Amino acid sequence: MNATAKAITDVKKSLGKSVYVLGHHYQCDTVVAHCDKCGDSLELSRCVSDIEAAHIVFCGVYFMGETAALLARPGQSVHLPDLTSNCAMSMMTPETIARKVLQQLTGRGRKIIPLAYVNTTLDIKALVGEYGGATCTSANAGKMLAWALDQGGSVLFLPDKNLGRNTAKKLGLSQNDQQILRIGKNGLTDTDGIDRKLLLWPGCCCIHTRFTSEMVAAAREKHPGCRILAHPEARPEVIERCDAAGSTAFLIREAGEAAEKNPDSTLYIATEYNLVRRLAARHKERCRILPLTKSLCGDMAKVTAKKLLRTLTNISANKSVPIKVDIARIEPARLSLQRMLKVCGQ
Ligand code: SF4
Repeated sequence: MNATAKAITDVKKSLGKSVYVLGHHYQCDTVVAHCDKCGDSLELSRCVSDIEAAHIVFCGVYFMGETAALLARPGQSVHLPDLTSNCAMSMMTPETIARKVLQQLTGRGRKIIPLAYVNTTLDIKALVGEYGGATCTSANAGKMLAWALDQGGSVLFLPDKNLGRNTAKKLGLSQNDQQILRIGKNGLTDTDGIDRKLLLWPGCCCIHTRFTSEMVAAAREKHPGCRILAHPEARPEVIERCDAAGSTAFLIREAGEAAEKNPDSTLYIATEYNLVRRLAARHKERCRILPLTKSLCGDMAKVTAKKLLRTLTNISANKSVPIKVDIARIEPARLSLQRMLKVCGQ
């Protein structure tokens, strides 16, 4: 154990039950080693209400900490080891522009249900809640999109056009049912196709759009008979060439099953590299797990063991500044999250 790891262990021990450390699966091993619970966005949001510690340290990107702060109990505080660790995709939907787009779309009394991936700011979650919409994660996007379509009217899915298109395909929506919006700083720049059932914000995750069809073909050539899985933030043409796609929880499950049922098989996974590397190490005696390409999330990587130590030390000295959420946004944002948790049967 190195000096930083030992210091984290010591300060965590001294804080006892007053602190609980959450970590996203895309965090590096030296951070994950100190997390009380690791999970994907859905698992981590679900567990917040059961945490009794006064301080929650969230090792992840800013919107995840904000979500935890929204769902935390009164008196609980949520701390992020690096307050600048913004998910790049979550910054692709400025609230002022999204509000203009919603005003334009609903201008003539048309019903639009906004459905926001949880990878969005608190402001967007509040806007979505205000307009009767909900949030979703990659694990429940299908269920939530079906729910939104069921409300009557059209759905505005944001910010990830790829998750939106991949989910729409699973639900059987045709290309003619969908439109990727063209948006500028004053809202819509083109109204072609805006009468369609599913309207997609033109955002994406640059970590998952690094995967290409050529990489899938090269993997199949290198390891004939291999299985290839992808996260649904990857481009539709990549997903089409893979054997299956699903959330982080799905990819972890599939890796476990490959190790158990198909020893000596080769499994490629197209998602963030820290997770793939950890799965490869976990199952290395049973099967070969490879990244489709090494795609690391630089925003997640801003959280380091040293910053975790600094946060814990500051909590212990009463000097850590917790995430503050704008009071006016709390109720509508909470509403959008609670709708998701209700539809998904928490
Ligand atoms: S992997 Fe993509 S969606 Fe996830 S935190 Fe990084 S930039 Fe955001």
